[in-house]
Amino acid sequence: MYWERDSETMPRDRLEELQLTRLRETIERASKAPFYEKAGLRDYSISSVSDITKLPFTTKQDLRDAYPYGMISVPLEEVVRLHSSSGTTGIPTVVYHSRGDIQRWTELVCRCLFMIGVRKHDVFQNMIGYGLFTGGLGLHYGAERLGCLTIPTGPGNTKRQLKFMKDFKATVIHVIPSYALHLADTLESMGIVPKDEFPNLRSAILGAEPHTEETREKIENFFGIQAFNSYGLSEMNGPGVAFECPEKNGMHIWEDAFLVEILDPDTLKPVGTGEHGELVITTLSREAMPILRYRTKDLTSIIEDPCPCGRSHRKIVRITGRSDDMMILKGVNIFPMQIEAVLNGMKHVGRNYQIILESRGHNDHMIVKVEVDSSLSIEDYKALESLRANIVRELRDEILISPEVVLCEPGGIPVAQGKAVRVLDNRSI
Ligand code: AMP
Ligand code: ZN
Repeated sequence: MYWERDSETMPRDRLEELQLTRLRETIERASKAPFYEKAGLRDYSISSVSDITKLPFTTKQDLRDAYPYGMISVPLEEVVRLHSSSGTTGIPTVVYHSRGDIQRWTELVCRCLFMIGVRKHDVFQNMIGYGLFTGGLGLHYGAERLGCLTIPTGPGNTKRQLKFMKDFKATVIHVIPSYALHLADTLESMGIVPKDEFPNLRSAILGAEPHTEETREKIENFFGIQAFNSYGLSEMNGPGVAFECPEKNGMHIWEDAFLVEILDPDTLKPVGTGEHGELVITTLSREAMPILRYRTKDLTSIIEDPCPCGRSHRKIVRITGRSDDMMILKGVNIFPMQIEAVLNGMKHVGRNYQIILESRGHNDHMIVKVEVDSSLSIEDYKALESLRANIVRELRDEILISPEVVLCEPGGIPVAQGKAVRVLDNRSI
């Protein structure tokens, strides 16, 4: 029932002792990284885990400022892997791993998979991006370590995806929720009944983007399977940070590897027990790149009640949103500022723009409305079309998604009274 019984069911007092030991080790290690060197970490006295509040925060911008090697706390020859956050903002946020880091990450993923009943006889089809993004390789290593037949299809290529699921009798799939819905649409349009086509399919792991309970139910009902929520972020390895157990009521966050705080995003003070706020995480077992008090900007709360599954690590509720303006489309992180920066650098583009997100079928669709400036005649159709095509190309290079670009005349986009409303998210999931 447990991959690592002792670690997963450790009594809370022992778990907290372990956290304290690991927190001290983490601070010691972190102080060797150029980024943390100036923070004088050795001067902080830590006598209990709650002393974490004395330590400085780390933000995505800090990681960018420390690019490329400012966060490294071991000699370079001990680093074996580098990953990066999805999406591309000028300077990416990179995360390095030692061999031990990869092993510990793999074990955490094994805990998650084992928890939902995945075993060595399973056929695991991994429909999530490989490469710099952590979702593919993270789950891949765990599934292989468990002994599953692991099929690295990655995302997309829906026809081949469905053929492999059928021919190799996939029992477990890892997929971003919007793509699972797209698979459902495709099957429906082909008149295929999932239970007939994939009689062995049992579970889906849904990760990388926010989704609702209704979306989970839609996926479960359509495929006739169980679906489990998987939360992670590249700064904290990737997948394997928090994962639903069979109770499907919150995600266990592995507290021997991650020290969690829930803070009010404005005051940065701890919220009351069980209250909602920003998830802030400190790594407890990372060697190559320990991170202190990382502001994930993800909003959630902690479930303090013990879980009937017997695991002592507390659970967080489904992520309800973000405290910043990051959008996630098809599993890719995009900030409005990336779009603004591209538009600002282009000739004939006016001051105002707006991003509209919609669901087309079950696919995310982005419309970018852009005002042209008065130097371009709105009757010069050829010039307008060429500008539109240019904007699409430049945006695709930056955000990896081709948006629909709609040009408007100067003043054509209503100006908000207060803060500009740059993003209208009309998506249904
Ligand atoms: P990345 O660093 O590219 O892996 O992106 C991590 C971000 O994806 C997180 O900070 C969350 O905002 C989002 N994310 C990942 N998994 C989930 C999930 N299960 N539910 C909601 N958001 C998620
Ligand atoms: Zn549980």
